[in-house]
Amino acid sequence: MKKSLLLLPGPVPVAQPVLEAMAWPMINHRGAEFAEILARLERLMKPLFGTTADVLFLGSSGTGGLEAAVTNLFDPGDRLLSVPVGVFGKRLATIATTYGCEVEMLETPLGAAADPRALAARLAADPERRIKGVLLTHNETSTGVQNEMSALAEAVRAHGALTVVDSVSGLGASRFEMDAWGFDVVVTASQKALAAPPGIAMVAASERAWAAMERAKIARYYFDLPLAREFARKGQTPWTPPISVFYAVAVALDRYHALGLEEQFTRHATYARAIRAAFEALGFTIFSRPDAHSVTVVAAEPPPGVDASALLKLLRETYGVVLSGGQGELTGKIVRFGTMGDVAANDILGAIGAIELALADLGSAPRFGAGVAAASGELSARVAAGAR
Ligand SMILES: *Cc1c(COP(=O)(O)O)cnc(C)c1O
Repeated sequence: MKKSLLLLPGPVPVAQPVLEAMAWPMINHRGAEFAEILARLERLMKPLFGTTADVLFLGSSGTGGLEAAVTNLFDPGDRLLSVPVGVFGKRLATIATTYGCEVEMLETPLGAAADPRALAARLAADPERRIKGVLLTHNETSTGVQNEMSALAEAVRAHGALTVVDSVSGLGASRFEMDAWGFDVVVTASQKALAAPPGIAMVAASERAWAAMERAKIARYYFDLPLAREFARKGQTPWTPPISVFYAVAVALDRYHALGLEEQFTRHATYARAIRAAFEALGFTIFSRPDAHSVTVVAAEPPPGVDASALLKLLRETYGVVLSGGQGELTGKIVRFGTMGDVAANDILGAIGAIELALADLGSAPRFGAGVAAASGELSARVAAGAR
């Protein structure tokens, strides 16, 4: 297979030792070896969630984890408040309406982060506590927007609604404090900041959430979280787990912790800053508002006269650099450059160099090196410190 530089906001490049772990032999998923892996994964994931609660591992992509959150917490007919800031926030709302919840949308302009004051005001207008849950996104991959989660937690606290957080493209790339901030169900997945292959969703729940799950009435079978917890406490999963992906995530998390949480947070933030600087130097317009930038994906509109789809095609087919396009109403309007995974500073610089070449091919004459220089300015301190 032709090698290309994968800079999507998931799936992400996976280091060779992580890939190789997928070739290890199968084991009994009801045996001691698997129980050890499960315990190790849970121990390694807790600091990323910022929780002492059980972390459950589901054999699915991130969406399965989000579906599990909805079907285990709520009843058909429950009123939920969704605070989408893009496509993924809307998807979570759609899961809830699919299962019969009544979902109200608190809209935010595209590119902006959710406004904690607007959320607090809407909840203050619900003195009878009819709103049972609030659906939030930590990092909105479609717009390159990251929400200020501590402020959103604060906005919900007085009301007391249960909170569901999609942190699929957030967890591991910046600080998340589930317990301290008081979130109820938080979901992430293996193929984003953890730098592992797709196949496992991770879910953690608060005591309040576990109590609500005992009462929830939406039908569920495969994604039964109380059942998953019962099995996890015996070192198992209810159904056959994707054993190879468990191996890979274990190696990926060892690598993650070898660098350390703080270093990981800095690395993602530095890459995102470098990419934004390069885009700006090349005449792109950063899509996220200045106070709402994501550290895991940079979304930008190409310079005037440059077609986003043509640029992406040229990058992919001629230069072997795979970036994402827009989703939903942003299709054809933006490009998205991910920072997650086994990505080095020289990958970022190489991709930016390729963007300069592609822009030139498309007749938009950039000052060659302008994007690379801007990115280097952000990366140099890090490279000098040895964090390549
Ligand atoms: C990637 C992603 C998901 C999950 O997508 P899957 O394809 O189901 O893993 C959910 N939410 C956000 C914000 C994401 O970035």
